[in-house]
Amino acid sequence: RAKEQGGGHHQFYRADMNERALERVQLLNRLRRAQPQGELSLHYQAQRRLTDRSLLGAEALLRWHSPQLGNVPPDRFIPLAEESGLIDAEGGLGDWVLARCCATLAAWQGGPHAQLRLAANLSARQFRNGRLPATVARLLTEHGVNPQRLELEVTESLLLDHDQATQQQLFALKDLGVALALDDFGTGYSSLAMLRRVPVDVLKIDRSFVKDLGQDGEADALVRAIVGMAKALKLQLVAEGVETEAQAAFLNALGCETGQGWLFGRPVPLEDF
Ligand code: C2E
Ligand code: MG
Ligand code: MG
Ligand code: MG
Repeated sequence: RAKEQGGGHHQFYRADMNERALERVQLLNRLRRAQPQGELSLHYQAQRRLTDRSLLGAEALLRWHSPQLGNVPPDRFIPLAEESGLIDAEGGLGDWVLARCCATLAAWQGGPHAQLRLAANLSARQFRNGRLPATVARLLTEHGVNPQRLELEVTESLLLDHDQATQQQLFALKDLGVALALDDFGTGYSSLAMLRRVPVDVLKIDRSFVKDLGQDGEADALVRAIVGMAKALKLQLVAEGVETEAQAAFLNALGCETGQGWLFGRPVPLEDF
């Protein structure tokens, strides 16, 4: 009897797995067609100076509107694009994001946004085939964009690999003149030693630390420590997920110069930015 039941569970589990695998395949098939069918776009979120709230830059965030599925959140489709290789394929999603960012920077030239810096998110996978620096160089030239206006966000996990090829590409990107930012800082396992070894310009303090500021002594102490470290290493700081005036005031008092979050604006389409 127990055996029978066990078998039944097993079958149920397998059916469930198959359904999930099928769902994944369907989502991936739709995602493959998303870019050629014009279902992808970038939203832009403001980054502001905490002292006077002046606009310093923006982060570009990928959006997918599927006619069948509606808006699919990045946390759902980016991992799929990474696992499937769609993110780093030639002309794939990663290249598309970079090209759009360069086009936007080109459009901003000569206007009120000419001095802004635009940040694009990169997946670790985009460092796998080794052609990232060449792609970025080509796109900057094609669009006639000042490299200093472009910032590339990478995560700590990328730097943990101690991979020489990755390291070389980071330096090659730096040589182009683009800025490098470490996204979601504090959630990974990066060390002080690593921060000295990689050519990053900006630390983005993860939202999870900002959330508890002013309420949780530990969060305060951690942000204080990150600010101190950034100053020692001469890195710029951007706090993520700033939602309240209290958080902004706290960050400013601690010496963090830039904030990004709903308090300063949600991610919006280019025409609304
Ligand atoms: P991220 O790079 O850390 O982006 C910040 C996320 O926080 C965004 O979520 C943004 O909408 C959200 N956010 C901004 N301000 C606030 C706030 O005040 N409160 C709260 N609760 N959330 C806030 P989003 O757009 O859903 O993107 C999620 C993640 O997907 C991004 O995290 C990034 O890791 C990834 N992603 C987005 N676009 C791209 C892309 O073009 N390429 C790659 N590789 N990854 C991307
Ligand atoms: Mg980011
Ligand atoms: Mg982030
Ligand atoms: Mg984040």
